[in-house]
Amino acid sequence: MFIGHFGVGLGAKKIDKKPSLGTMLFAAQFLDLLWPIMILLGIETVKIEPGNTAMTPLNFISYPITHSLLGAFVWSMLFGLVYFLIKKNYESSILLASLVMSHWILDLITHRPDLQLIPWSGCLIILSEMEC
Ligand SMILES: [Zn+2]
Repeated sequence: MFIGHFGVGLGAKKIDKKPSLGTMLFAAQFLDLLWPIMILLGIETVKIEPGNTAMTPLNFISYPITHSLLGAFVWSMLFGLVYFLIKKNYESSILLASLVMSHWILDLITHRPDLQLIPWSGCLIILSEMEC
């Protein structure tokens, strides 16, 4: 869903002209930009398995901090808060927080069931049900 996140960021520029396009794209990709940092820190885990999926050889073993529902919500709130503290623009802060959260929603639609509800809960969200 990599390119889809950029599409959401580009589309958001039509809604609010104040944040820069770079900020919009940064917000839409924010979770995936945090993810390699968590990998390097050993907090999240990925395995490279050629042929794992048609799209990517990456097997997302565990990414509870960046890609759980709760984690994405917290990151979106932090992103919006930091923007608000810098720019003092409430409406743009809400939009940018929504862009961060949109990343998780698009990943939920396009990933195989590997997104958790809350970090380390063991409960994976599947669109029509929840598996624990
Ligand atoms: Zn992602």
